[in-house]
Amino acid sequence: MFNFIKAPFAMLICLALATGMAPISARALPYPESTSSDQSVIAEAKPMTLGELRRKYSETFKFNGPEVKQIALTFDDVPDPRFTPKVLDVLKKHGVKATFFVVGSRAKKHPELLRRIHREGHIVGNHSYSHPLFKKKSALEFKNEIERTEKVIVKLIGYKPRFIRPPYGEINEEQLRWAKKQGYKIVNWNVDSLDWKALSKEKVKHNVLSAVGPGSIVLQHAGGGDGSNLTGTIEALPDIIRTLRNRGYHFVTIPELLHEQKAL
Ligand code: ZN
Repeated sequence: MFNFIKAPFAMLICLALATGMAPISARALPYPESTSSDQSVIAEAKPMTLGELRRKYSETFKFNGPEVKQIALTFDDVPDPRFTPKVLDVLKKHGVKATFFVVGSRAKKHPELLRRIHREGHIVGNHSYSHPLFKKKSALEFKNEIERTEKVIVKLIGYKPRFIRPPYGEINEEQLRWAKKQGYKIVNWNVDSLDWKALSKEKVKHNVLSAVGPGSIVLQHAGGGDGSNLTGTIEALPDIIRTLRNRGYHFVTIPELLHEQKAL
């Protein structure tokens, strides 16, 4: 409530105080239709929504690829010895290459698993070091999370990922601007399996198959927190792959889908 509606007026009052004017309500301003300077104050105070950021930074902030019969499967929160090997086994058996978004602190704990992801031909992206909610963090904290994870990844597999997936898909404009300047691509998704809720195989299948289309980026997980259960996603994967191939889709990695280099 406060952030979005009252904040601009609070800022006007602060501005008035700072310039030595008596605080006045917005209604009492000499130009009630709001002047151009009022608008800039309001624009600064109100954080942009993900939809607005997506439109403004469409070259940097991706939710899907071009509308061709390609689909990119993505797996977050890896590596995790409970689930990642099983997901890798299924992908290997079906000859599918996917994109794995790596949490730096986990890669440090399970280096061999990250090497396996890379060795089996999958693409690695950056999913932060400690999985924070970025939009609440400063640009510096954001940068540190990205660079700390990069160091671990470069040491283990030899490249600096170009693709970043922010935890929970959340990012703010300042962080996006920094990422754009450095040449990163921020990759969210347009199909959510919701598999982290420990859903059954059938539910995961339904969530993916009812929503995919040409150029889709599908969010699944191959790692989780304490007590998480990704059995549904592992069991659903062979059926998802088979069904989508029957519908004429090809599975590609994020760099293939977006026609970008995998590394910076
Ligand atoms: Zn995550």
